[in-house]
Amino acid sequence: MAILVVGSVAYDTVETTRERRERQLGGSASFFAVAARGRGPVRCVGVVGDDFRESDLGLIRSSGARTDGIVRRPGASFHWSGRYHADMIERDTLATELGVFADFQPEIPRDWLDSEYLFLANIHPTLQAQVLDLVTGPRLVALDTMNLWIETTRPQLLEVLARVDVLLVNDGEARMLTGERSLARAAAAIAAMGPGRVIIKKGEHGALFFGRDSVLAVPAIILDDVVDPTGAGDSFAGGFMGSLAEAGATRGDGDAVFRRAMIDGTVTASFCPEGFSVEGLMGVTDESYARRKAVLEGMMIP
Ligand code: AMP
Repeated sequence: MAILVVGSVAYDTVETTRERRERQLGGSASFFAVAARGRGPVRCVGVVGDDFRESDLGLIRSSGARTDGIVRRPGASFHWSGRYHADMIERDTLATELGVFADFQPEIPRDWLDSEYLFLANIHPTLQAQVLDLVTGPRLVALDTMNLWIETTRPQLLEVLARVDVLLVNDGEARMLTGERSLARAAAAIAAMGPGRVIIKKGEHGALFFGRDSVLAVPAIILDDVVDPTGAGDSFAGGFMGSLAEAGATRGDGDAVFRRAMIDGTVTASFCPEGFSVEGLMGVTDESYARRKAVLEGMMIP
């Protein structure tokens, strides 16, 4: 069953205390697609400029994803630039240059409209709603957003939130969206806005799942070295949705399949910070994945 993802396909300039990488492959849809490793399969919808290297689209495709829905327009690709603090958690956004993304109108190839799973990655909520209008009856819809949209396009965000099944946000965003300090209250307030299931990501502290009748806390896998955490949230989403698609989950299912997807999201996300751009994700094999899943289970079982 296919997963359609719409989001940014970008060039990121990332600076850590150790290294600086210019215009490497980034964007929420790129991380999501590579992380999902063809489970689905994954169909990407987005836009790039004429500066975008064909080899970078090839990188996304090499993970098993389709890129026919990524259109090329004259102009510059979306460019995000950030600098990490020494803790490799805090980061300052130095630049967000929309380029061709400013006029992006999602176009979905006709034979992709019946995709069973839809991931609305972090883009303007009006664009997310447009994609929802186009697809015909997905089994499950998940949405990611960020502080920018919570602050600047709240009414449009609330409108689209009412139409999705799962929201993925980080803890700060959940608090900003609801005004609640308690994450339990924030999750309940979000559920009342529409999404029956809420995932609150807490970076190196893992992620919380607030389901229909259960709560699950999954720790993040403890890594020896963090090279570049950019895209870890989108990678979590790729592993999470890939797991749900593989299981054939629907919104009517009980929490169990979503709880298992939380484990897959966590295992998947753990590979992302181990390299720049999608490098950490590219090297994942069935064996390395299984080893890491065992490590996570070992961290959780008394
Ligand atoms: P994460 O580290 O999971 O928050 O994701 C970082 C990715 O999001 C980077 O690859 C950026 O290119 C992308 N990104 C940053 N800001 C935006 C934005 N306003 N809209 C869409 N994508 C963005």
